[in-house]
Amino acid sequence: MKLFTDLFIDGTWQSGSGRVAVRDPATGEVIAEVATAGEADCDAAVAAAHAALPGWAATPARERAEILRRAFELLTAEAHDFAELVTRENGKVLADARSEVTYAAEFFRWFSEEAVRIVGDYRAAPGGDKRILVTHEPVGVSVLITPWNFPAAMATRKIGPALAAGCTVVLKPATETPLTALAMADLLQRAGVPDGVVNVVLPVPVGAQVNRMLHDPRVRNLSFTGSTEVGRVLLHSCADTVVRASMELGGNAPFLVLEGADVEKAVAGAMVAKMRNGGSACTAANRFYVHRSLAEAFTHRLGEEMRALRLAPGLEEGAQLGALVSTVERDKVAALVDDAVAAGARPVVGGVVPDGTGAFYPATVLADVDAGAALLEHEIFGPVAPVVVVDDEDEAVRRANDTEFGLIAYIFAADDAAGTRVAHRLQTGMVAVNRGVVSDPAAPFGGMKQSGLGREGGFAGIHEFLETKYIATDL
Ligand code: NAD
Repeated sequence: MKLFTDLFIDGTWQSGSGRVAVRDPATGEVIAEVATAGEADCDAAVAAAHAALPGWAATPARERAEILRRAFELLTAEAHDFAELVTRENGKVLADARSEVTYAAEFFRWFSEEAVRIVGDYRAAPGGDKRILVTHEPVGVSVLITPWNFPAAMATRKIGPALAAGCTVVLKPATETPLTALAMADLLQRAGVPDGVVNVVLPVPVGAQVNRMLHDPRVRNLSFTGSTEVGRVLLHSCADTVVRASMELGGNAPFLVLEGADVEKAVAGAMVAKMRNGGSACTAANRFYVHRSLAEAFTHRLGEEMRALRLAPGLEEGAQLGALVSTVERDKVAALVDDAVAAGARPVVGGVVPDGTGAFYPATVLADVDAGAALLEHEIFGPVAPVVVVDDEDEAVRRANDTEFGLIAYIFAADDAAGTRVAHRLQTGMVAVNRGVVSDPAAPFGGMKQSGLGREGGFAGIHEFLETKYIATDL
């Protein structure tokens, strides 16, 4: 696949102000030197998005929908190439990259369908003095910031609704994984997106440049996916000029195995909830609270399944667990495990950084983890499953809710009714009952508490890019 390594501004490729190396985390080798954006490049991107806004907002919804539909078709046709690119810059195994690209394409399809269904409202005021006319307008130029863990899907989850709503965008991908976003810009141009509607820049230094864009009066909206720590900083920046903000932030997902649950089903669910994307997912199960009667069997079977995974470079045939995105991220995971083990946790499998090059960390199960362990307060973001024994449902729910995060929770219970009853007690934006995955472009994705503000996907997603206008009329 051709690599795009320049900035994409106003429909043209521009060489930017510097270069940054993108590495293959499985080997440490440099894949490409990608252009970085200084002040003038970021200004040019915002100016292009601003100039393109009136034309794009006025484009009939049906035309916008058809362009997004073509983007869906192109991405589906080119899924193999995109998946390889994702694996090369991110490290995840090809099977995970393939399912990410399918998921990414589905956001284009879903929002092509949503573009023509932005409904308003027209009714008589209760007092009888006027009519209430409610319409929705595109919020305007939107800055989109995405993380490295899903380089394709996090971009399309924002670009899809933004374009469907009639907004123009400046996308800033993660520094570790910009190649997929740049290839996506090329795909969108081929799908018929007009110049200036989608721009992609890699600002350096990131904090100062993004802050500058958020203080530019032409920018009206920020959609951010990343850590809670960076999200808080960006919310402060947005406050100065009251830029609207959607935040998809960190998770610390509890995985509850309640009394009476089927252990085999719970282990199968755990393997997906924990190991999809090698554990580098905001939705990844991070803390396993298992009823005392099932704890030994669950831990043993989970250990067996984790031990059987083949750790290898993502592009290698049969690889089931690839590299983390960088050795820096790998070392963070290793430090969390080492601390937990020093505090008494017992590695059932894994727990040791393998020899050799590449940012690899083995599938790890930790038993006898103390309920107060630091590991349980952090997003591990790697292939590590800490198991804590609990005595009853109340304790499981209390521990699950005892965190500043509230993105997602998993429940395995005796049946769906029992699981759904407990789901209502959990302080998370999403709950998976007796299953290991929730993500669906047609469903609202997002968190409570410090896991975020707003929702992506579903019927809510497009409204993150729309403003409501009320017209009082005697019509
Ligand atoms: P991160 O917060 O370090 O970076 C996210 C993005 O923000 C990157 O593009 C990065 O370059 C940029 N960034 C970093 N500092 C910035 C600053 N000062 N100003 C502006 N931009 C800045 O997160 P990450 O390590 O790339 O990704 C992992 C995090 O993302 C995890 O916490 C994970 O839970 C979260 N995440 C959340 C969701 C969700 O939907 N809730 C989805 C995926 C990932």
